[in-house]
Amino acid sequence: MIAYVGIGANLGDARANVLDAIERLRALPGARLLAASSLYRSAPIDSGGDDYVNAVAALDTELAPQALLEALQGIEQAHGRERPYRNAPRTLDLDLLLYGERSIATATLTVPHPRMHERAFVLAPLLEIAPDLAIPGLGPAAGFVPQVAGQFITRTD
Ligand code: ATP
Ligand code: CA
Ligand code: CA
Repeated sequence: MIAYVGIGANLGDARANVLDAIERLRALPGARLLAASSLYRSAPIDSGGDDYVNAVAALDTELAPQALLEALQGIEQAHGRERPYRNAPRTLDLDLLLYGERSIATATLTVPHPRMHERAFVLAPLLEIAPDLAIPGLGPAAGFVPQVAGQFITRTD
């Protein structure tokens, strides 16, 4: 199954944290890293703190969705992720954006990620590595770009 993972960090050495997350995804048992986007910089939305460093990775994985989520949370924990309050600055955030064309709604996992199409920091790196991608139930991801045009985001490499 092809899965897309959104990566974000704005605490500590955010750039190093995102690059390390990509390396950990490359080394993840049961998954093969197909692509990783460039790194992007975005202003925080609904919270304070430093700018975010963002990226998106594509995996070809045999892991079930919940197992993949737990693997992502393990990588967050390796970076000391804490959740003191909603949208708090974070050393590393890994969101499961898409899992093939599956729609999933459990207590712990909603896929497609319900806010991905509202976020320039998701759409820009996602479309870099998958320009023709469709979001199940919503249609082409590229169709949402005009709606996020007001959100500050810049490619950093
Ligand atoms: P947002 O979801 O708006 O990006 P966030 O990433 O800051 O917010 P977290 O505190 O990282 O939110 O995650 C809260 C919970 O979201 C997790 O415990 C996880 O079980 C749940 N969750 C549901 N769907 C997903 C998903 N697709 N990817 C990652 N976590 C998810
Ligand atoms: Ca998130
Ligand atoms: Ca998250």
